[in-house]
Amino acid sequence: MFNIHSSEKVFVLTGAGISAESGIRTFRDTGGLWENFRVEDVATPEGFERDPVLVWKFYNQRRSDLKKVEPNPAHYALAELQKRVLDFFLVTQNVDNLHERAGSENLLHMHGELLKVRCLECGKVCHDDRDLSQEPRCSACNGLLRPHIVWFGEVPFEMDRIMDKLSRCDWFIGIGTSGAVYPAAQFISAARHSGAKTVFINPDPGSRPRYADYFIEEKAGTAVPKILEQIIS
Ligand code: NAD
Ligand code: ZN
Repeated sequence: MFNIHSSEKVFVLTGAGISAESGIRTFRDTGGLWENFRVEDVATPEGFERDPVLVWKFYNQRRSDLKKVEPNPAHYALAELQKRVLDFFLVTQNVDNLHERAGSENLLHMHGELLKVRCLECGKVCHDDRDLSQEPRCSACNGLLRPHIVWFGEVPFEMDRIMDKLSRCDWFIGIGTSGAVYPAAQFISAARHSGAKTVFINPDPGSRPRYADYFIEEKAGTAVPKILEQIIS
């Protein structure tokens, strides 16, 4: 294995795989269909324009599913890792709230959050955990609200801040995300360019990126707590 010094800068990227053991299925597990909804209908701006009621029905279900799941040991271990290293940055592709519920702070949701809404008229973003089965409206301007989620064809949030952090990290740790596709592949090359060492945790050997210094072929709930044992000060 390897040791991470507590004074080193650690960048963590998590994907759907870290929440799999909590019972939130990865997109891949569902065979490309999300609970019988077509991705084009519920996860594109065009789909929302065509039928906002259908899109809200889908997201309302995802939002209420959050109440039935709990963080797993991988989420808790990352919250603990944040306390043990001086410079820690967590970026997640996930739209669930399991990192926060496990105690992680100041993380960046690059693909948005299930429990946030955004006004199509004034752009205001709010936390909102109500039932939104009717077309919800903005309290400031009465504009139509959409889920604050990055849909297909849209640009992930805060890419500049992410690329800046990558250009200065000592360790890049990718957990539960397939390393071969965007954004992980782009993030690894940026991290490697700045001289960082790269670690991947994924039980599927096929998800091993071409360039990984360490590949831990285990589930996140088993492997992430072990990373804590590698921290030295
Ligand atoms: P993905 O391409 O990142 O694939 C998930 C990866 O997790 C796979 O490589 C798989 O081998 C790995 N994995 C499965 N079980 C694991 C475990 N127990 N421990 C560690 N790794 C494990 O993600 P996707 O599912 O194709 O989703 C695509 C996008 O859809 C995501 O980036 C996200 O925006 C969204 N999504 C979010 C959630 C969520 O918020 N929990 C769930 C599904 C999809
Ligand atoms: Zn508004």
